[in-house]
Amino acid sequence: MNIILFGPPGAGKGTQGDNLKKDFDLFKISSGDLLREEIKKKSAIGIKIKTIVDKGILVSDDIINNLIEIVLSKKSHSNRLIFDGYPRNLSQAKNLDVLMNKYNQKISCALSLKVNKNIIVKRILGRQICSKCGLTFNTFFNPSTKENHNCNTNLLQKRSDDNEGIINKRFATYEKETLPILDYYKDQNLLREIDGMREIPLIYQEIRGIIDTLET
Ligand code: AMP
Repeated sequence: MNIILFGPPGAGKGTQGDNLKKDFDLFKISSGDLLREEIKKKSAIGIKIKTIVDKGILVSDDIINNLIEIVLSKKSHSNRLIFDGYPRNLSQAKNLDVLMNKYNQKISCALSLKVNKNIIVKRILGRQICSKCGLTFNTFFNPSTKENHNCNTNLLQKRSDDNEGIINKRFATYEKETLPILDYYKDQNLLREIDGMREIPLIYQEIRGIIDTLET
């Protein structure tokens, strides 16, 4: 099965995607992580990407479409993907359909996590990501503990675009570019909307219930 996770920045796509990945033995493609990998390389393209990401706007479709195809085309990942942060506009959604056809796969479900903007701000300001294992935590809602995290806490880092100035722009970009494509999936009967403002385990329980009903 292939699942798309939608939701504004800080909606919990990464956290819920990590849960699904573990329980259903899937691969998570985070478009933001793919771009941050490029930024880390400090290549010419990486430097260009950083200036765009730090403005809270979308990088060009060509750049992200190519990075997605590299992962999606891997035989080991076939029909075992969770998309976190992709597609982000209608042109990317259409490109994903082309890629699905090309590699003989299909989208099983699009899950949209709905969260208010005031909650988003708190979630984003508290977000921490482990630079070693990649797990996401939150100082307010889901702190790293000995029970949920094996790495040293000094490996927890903040993202450069997780600050109050850029949050507003990222939220606006989501509403303008990404929200309209939910109808694209609704029309195909693939969209499921979820209240993403509850506690993480409750949200996950609902997601699991949906995934359990999907054909593998
Ligand atoms: P995220 O980690 O999903 O919050 O993404 C961080 C930033 O990476 C976004 O604010 C965009 O600048 C960029 N980005 C992530 N995914 C995409 C995408 N599918 N298309 C264009 N830009 C993206």
